[in-house]
Amino acid sequence: MTKILKADPDAIARAAALLLEGKLVAFGTETVYGLGALATSNTAVAHIFAAKNRPRFNPLISHFASSQAAFAHVEPTDLAYRLAEKFWPGPLTMILPRKSGSTICDLATAGLPTIAVRVPRGKTALALLEAVGEPVAAPSANPSGRVSPSDAFHVLRNMHGRVDAILDSGPCSVGLESTVIDLSREVPFLLRPGGITLEQLETICGTIRNPDDYATKLPSSPGMLASHYAPGLMVRLNAETVDQNEALLAFGATLPGAGLVYNLSESGDLEEAAARLFAGLRFLDGEGQRRGLQTIAAMPVPRHGLGLAILDRLRRAASPRPVAGGDDDLESMIG
Ligand code: AMP
Ligand code: MG
Repeated sequence: MTKILKADPDAIARAAALLLEGKLVAFGTETVYGLGALATSNTAVAHIFAAKNRPRFNPLISHFASSQAAFAHVEPTDLAYRLAEKFWPGPLTMILPRKSGSTICDLATAGLPTIAVRVPRGKTALALLEAVGEPVAAPSANPSGRVSPSDAFHVLRNMHGRVDAILDSGPCSVGLESTVIDLSREVPFLLRPGGITLEQLETICGTIRNPDDYATKLPSSPGMLASHYAPGLMVRLNAETVDQNEALLAFGATLPGAGLVYNLSESGDLEEAAARLFAGLRFLDGEGQRRGLQTIAAMPVPRHGLGLAILDRLRRAASPRPVAGGDDDLESMIG
């Protein structure tokens, strides 16, 4: 059952407790209503993808109560400090290199070496993040492909039964998604236009490359290709048998004969499998290479619900190197 909680101090404390238990809480920010989960828990973040019915694990924005809290998880540049000073709290998301030791989970970053961080401006959002004391991953609180919600009733209408609570702080003031700027390259890149305009950013950043540059100049740049974690071992899909030279990414009842096995979910649960996917790929890749194995053989997973997102991720991992599919990545990064 989805509870609507009017945003008062008690409700904020309850919502924070739910998040810390790994539950989903939709909450208002100045941009749109976010579908929040504890960003440090793969299991909690898997609920987001299940609730949104997202066909793909794209990286999520982690939200913090302060710049200091955000910068504890990434390597801020001078420019990042200046942007934070000027636009945080506010509708600006910065992509920065992950700090070693950051506890943000793989599923929240889609296995990338960078993290998207933001300090939202909404009073309720800030109070909630403060009460949680941990990063909160939150895409917009709508089913995949539908319009982003700008008040609690939009969320209720579309996500009823799929989220544990909605913290109602009234309509969003900006109503537009946050601007996403990538600061992990030599020059800043605008990945998504949003609440902070290009002109506003340029007062601080000077030149910014925009998405057109991605489309026209960088379709096959290594940076884009590396945008999703690719294992070093080759990946073989839909394995129905496996041999000693292979590391098996199992789902459900495992296959005999593999050199190494990681089971995404023995009981065949897709949400559990999603939560364990990136950890599983990393484990099989690292340990498999150490043991001189050749391939990661992935067992079939059902083609529905989160199975589609898992298959999408595995297909990318299995495609010939350097990985093609820049267009898709482009779309998810700009979209
Ligand atoms: P949403 O969560 O739907 O508001 O979208 C978040 C946006 O940020 C998407 O366009 C993501 O692709 C992008 N994003 C999040 N994290 C990263 C990252 N580490 N690198 C590049 N883009 C990111
Ligand atoms: Mg969205």
